[in-house]
Amino acid sequence: MTIAQQITPANRQLPDIDAAARGLYIDGQWRPSQSGRQIDVVDPSTGAILAVVPDATIEDARASVDAAAAAAPSWRATPPRRRSEILRRCFELMIERSEMLATLISVENGKALKDARGEVAYAAEFFRWNAEEAVRISGEFGVAPSGTNRIIVDYQPIGICLLITPWNFPAAMATRKIAPALAAGCTVILKPASETPLTAYALAAIYEEAGVPKGVVNVLTTTTPGPITAEVLADPRVRKLSFTGSTGVGRQLLAEAAKNVISCSMELGGNAPFVVFDDADLDAALDGAMIAKMRNAGEACTAANRFYVQSGIYDAFAQGLADRMSALKVGSGVEVDTDCGPMITRKAVEKIGRLVDDAKAKGARVLCGGDMPSGAGFFYPPTVLASVSEDSEMAQEEIFGPVAPLYRFETEEEAIASANDTEYGLAAYVYTRDLARGLRVSSGIEAGMIALNRGLVSDPAAPFGGVKQSGLGREGGQHHGIAEFMEAKYIATSF
Ligand code: NAD
Repeated sequence: MTIAQQITPANRQLPDIDAAARGLYIDGQWRPSQSGRQIDVVDPSTGAILAVVPDATIEDARASVDAAAAAAPSWRATPPRRRSEILRRCFELMIERSEMLATLISVENGKALKDARGEVAYAAEFFRWNAEEAVRISGEFGVAPSGTNRIIVDYQPIGICLLITPWNFPAAMATRKIAPALAAGCTVILKPASETPLTAYALAAIYEEAGVPKGVVNVLTTTTPGPITAEVLADPRVRKLSFTGSTGVGRQLLAEAAKNVISCSMELGGNAPFVVFDDADLDAALDGAMIAKMRNAGEACTAANRFYVQSGIYDAFAQGLADRMSALKVGSGVEVDTDCGPMITRKAVEKIGRLVDDAKAKGARVLCGGDMPSGAGFFYPPTVLASVSEDSEMAQEEIFGPVAPLYRFETEEEAIASANDTEYGLAAYVYTRDLARGLRVSSGIEAGMIALNRGLVSDPAAPFGGVKQSGLGREGGQHHGIAEFMEAKYIATSF
């Protein structure tokens, strides 16, 4: 089936894949790579090649830094109100084109159209939110404790930013960085994941149409991110690295950025616990579990990775979760009624299969799913595993797929200790009707974000980020996100 055949009349806004694949976006121009090399973009629901995009070279990377540097003085001098209006226009255009963008995300990433629609709304909101932030950047003024002078603190754009994003939210992970960077007055180079470049390029065309001047946003796709990143970070004009991706790559980039002492924001991997106490509202906990586990088919850094369920509610929760997971429709993302699309690559499916096999070998019981399907596309069935051993690899590793492992616990202390038994600390979920316990457990769990009786934490208006090896810094939130793209300048003066 072609993509057009898979898209039903209800969502007939077809993306222009050829336009999205027309080139690298440098200095407001669509350019081929200087090497002439190209990257295949694959449809995960079939394994077929959807498009090719240029594979940037080091020379292309240098050209994008030059473009960002040339655009920087006038962008930082652009009045905040004007910057705000351009960002607002980006939001409006994204909403106008939301069906096209959602389809494009679904086609290249594989996620279910309903998840892609949610992503576009979330991604666009970063522009609306930061349009409002752009005109609210204020400094500080005070008297030094000695009384001898005044302290003025001015917030200035940090400089040229390198933004590196993953494939799992190809729109939102980019706008979560671009919108605050532009609001702060910075110019940027975006390096999206090579699995999902089309969304990044389609968005670049929207920024241009909204009035973002040439050179302010540059987009580069490459299959050699290490050397390209090293080249960009070696340029002393580049002052910021904002990365979203795996903890392993984040560690390497921190070391690379250390050479020029570049400011780093890191949104890294997660291993979210989902804790259900005996007194939880069972239906609410199951609804929340389905969102926390199955948004994006489990390919989310905030995805519930370990379900800790108290003994008294364990059997009912396990049965309820298996019933709901086995009722999900697995299929190509662009089909309107798909609940669970394919994973991003064959390698990702194999990793999930390996983790499930390991859990089974260590005593896990399969309540639904659990077998690697054959056939085209990179599918894995929604799976629930009961009685999973804490020694299983999936207790420590991100599953990044539609697999829910259940662990039993008895006491609150045990639940907190198990939840914290990981190097990660991004998101956590807690279900209980006892508010005092909910707040106590939320306080005890080592994570940057807690969803208390909810299955979702992401919100552009809230600070998103992790503790421990899940990252450094915050994105979104009141002033948190934009602050990552500004430097405080202190002026001491007397009068
Ligand atoms: P990844 O780390 O493999 O890749 C992320 C990005 O880094 C991609 O653009 C990739 O091309 C680039 N990259 C890879 N190697 C690089 C190198 N040596 N130098 C420079 N860039 C390099 O991650 P992924 O598989 O694309 O995404 C999944 C991971 O991202 C998961 O671990 C997930 O938890 C994490 N993630 C975190 C958040 C968050 O907000 N904390 C959000 C989404 C995803």
